[in-house]
Amino acid sequence: SGNKRICKSAPNTSKLILTRQFACHPFHFSYFIPLLLATVLWTSARREIRERPGGFTIVVVRQPGASNRANRLKMAMAEHDPKEFGVEDLVLLTTIDTKNIVENLKLRFQKSRIYTYIGEVLVSVNPYRQLPIYEKDTIEKYKGRELYERPPHIFAIADAAWRTCRNYSRDTVIIISGESGAGKTEASKIIMRYLAAITNVQQQHEIERVKNILLQSNCILEAFGNAKTTRNDNSSRFGKYMDINFNFKGDPVGGHISNYLLEKSRVVRQQQGERNFHSFYQLLAGCDDGHLRQMHLSRDPARYFYLNQGQSHKVDSINDAQDFKAVQSALRFIQTFDQQAVDGIWRVVAAIVHLGNLQFNPINHNEESEVADKEALRAVAELLDVDAGALAASLCSRVVAARGDVVNKQHNVNDALFGRDALAKSVYERLFTWIVQRVNDAIRVENSARRGKNTVIGVLDIYGFEIFGTNSLEQLCINYCNEKLQQLFIELVLKQEQEEYKREGIVWQQIDYFNNKIICDLIEEPRKGIIGILDEACSTVGPITDAVFLDEMDKKLSGHKHYTSRKLATTDKSLNFGENFRIRHYAGEVTYSVAGFLDKNTDTLFQDFKRLLYNSKNKLIASLFPDGAKSVTEVNKRPLTAGTLFKNSMLALVENLASKEPFYVRCIKPNETKSSSGFDVERVTHQVSYLGLCENVRVRRAGFAYRMAYPRFLLRYKLLSKKTWPNYRQGSERDGCEVILRECGLFDDCVFGRTKVFIRSPQTVFRLEELRTAK
Ligand code: ATP
Ligand code: MG
Repeated sequence: SGNKRICKSAPNTSKLILTRQFACHPFHFSYFIPLLLATVLWTSARREIRERPGGFTIVVVRQPGASNRANRLKMAMAEHDPKEFGVEDLVLLTTIDTKNIVENLKLRFQKSRIYTYIGEVLVSVNPYRQLPIYEKDTIEKYKGRELYERPPHIFAIADAAWRTCRNYSRDTVIIISGESGAGKTEASKIIMRYLAAITNVQQQHEIERVKNILLQSNCILEAFGNAKTTRNDNSSRFGKYMDINFNFKGDPVGGHISNYLLEKSRVVRQQQGERNFHSFYQLLAGCDDGHLRQMHLSRDPARYFYLNQGQSHKVDSINDAQDFKAVQSALRFIQTFDQQAVDGIWRVVAAIVHLGNLQFNPINHNEESEVADKEALRAVAELLDVDAGALAASLCSRVVAARGDVVNKQHNVNDALFGRDALAKSVYERLFTWIVQRVNDAIRVENSARRGKNTVIGVLDIYGFEIFGTNSLEQLCINYCNEKLQQLFIELVLKQEQEEYKREGIVWQQIDYFNNKIICDLIEEPRKGIIGILDEACSTVGPITDAVFLDEMDKKLSGHKHYTSRKLATTDKSLNFGENFRIRHYAGEVTYSVAGFLDKNTDTLFQDFKRLLYNSKNKLIASLFPDGAKSVTEVNKRPLTAGTLFKNSMLALVENLASKEPFYVRCIKPNETKSSSGFDVERVTHQVSYLGLCENVRVRRAGFAYRMAYPRFLLRYKLLSKKTWPNYRQGSERDGCEVILRECGLFDDCVFGRTKVFIRSPQTVFRLEELRTAK
């Protein structure tokens, strides 16, 4: 009748016999059962060891008809052994510090368990290898299950977001963060595949179409927006936020992608070991000979200045030719790209490749310039469908409006090269945005019937925090974006806890954490922040240089805790800052080179180019430049700067994210070498620290490790008291829970909220489970 018996079968050994079959009880906390079983067994075994130093054996007894269950249980126990695999929720660590968290992640990583929870936050370590954990049977295992019912998995997060949408009609967002190469984009694709797999059971044609477009759009956007960097072979060089709209049945009916600041400087410059965007290499490798000839291109990227600067155009992990075919078929699948549009896209890409090879000769003592290579000029003009003479004129001169007069200003070689690069960057950036818009057109939730009762799951996959050899305005924007997301994480994770305690009427004590708001302010504060100072420098009339801007920053920010001024730095002999400044970000120190900040911020494309392309005979190209319709005198003199536009888009993004119920995936990069076995403890420790995981665990634990609604608690533990078994009739469900906890001597570890009982330590839950199993 008892569930445990100690058989003294031999003088020096004892057998702990387990006859009760826990695995057959379906209940919410089943996730912990193997763990609890192990604890129960271990506690008894330890006692035995103390009493009988000779050793012991654990025997799982097969009951008639229960052999399968017993085996399953045995396997489940082995699979969840925290000693072997680490704890599945970091809240369960005995000692919470960074070291223990890292060790636990390491143990799990080595055992191919890349996912670990902190409450409802998922920590994901990039395995750098394909794991067999995303197949159909695993999808089935997670479908419709509560988070804790199954081992940690990104499917569980996707499912929780989806259930929140469908069951409670609440908008949710999955915010994926982590540094470059940590696995954010892969995570977002896994989430999308999961959502696609569990929806549309009735196979409705329209829903299937939307699902397929959402999935197929990935390879298109990656082709045009991702590139090989020194940190990641497939690094996202744009920010992506995708809304997926679900109808009341929980099926996807549409969506919308927002793209943020493409790193367009990559079109014309790449650092050593890096590449331009994948699309360029895909075209050369994958396009058939006939079309390539028509576009006057050769297959060899080394021949093109815009493609060869990083000297690493062959990437082992990438098959450009195959990817080209995938992009072509995805473009064809999405009907908003007709054949003309598809051809148009590649012709623009080809035109940019040729543009990079355009050189200029100085004339008139370099007061003026002319195009050196007429063949490349003709190729660009043909591909952009503009007149070659007009193109040459726009490259070598521009029309300026000065005091009411319109004059033609000739470019020297440097100005012409600057114009050439600005044209290439602008055309590519506009092409990219146009592609995103076409995808959006194909999945737009148009009619009101479809819009109906509609909820949204947002998925945010944005460029990760990064430090390169040389860091410029792009890195400042990317790292600022990560600061904003970190701040949101801090606020939401704390806020959620606090709000629940407030709602339940529970007193809550704040946990200390580093609030990076101070760094966000350093960058974004109007006029006083870096973007404000940069804007001011850009709007100053006269010969202002990047160095003058740096002087201004040094003047205004040198006292700031997170800013290292050039002047202060040069007094320190070990630092040779030159034209640099340094910011101590939440994720590490980054030195930014100020060269090019002003140009990048002003982001000028001469009106001549806009007018030229607006008049292109190619409809796609003309549509990219609607602002070319204006004459030079009509042009708005001071459009918003790149820095301010980015700041505004970040503020809007954060506001949007904060309005939805968030789920977090915190990605961690295990090593710098993309190795599937290397776990660099120092690098991971750094990430765990700056992601604030330790504080996250503490907040989760110092609050309450577990909470359970009164009816659920009562149902589960009513067998622990004669007063509540089989039913409690003397009072409310809350009173019933109190009776149980008092009788078990666990009352002091619990707090009673309005609808839930809050349990402080995991040990209390273990004890309750222990008592329950002893019954
Ligand atoms: P960035 O900020 O540079 O865009 P990221 O965080 O998006 O970086 P990913 O591109 O998702 O990083 O991941 C980098 C590489 O790591 C992938 O190309 C893939 O090889 C590997 N990887 C990431 N996650 C997984 C996973 N779950 N399973 C297998 N491989 C993975
Ligand atoms: Mg990415």
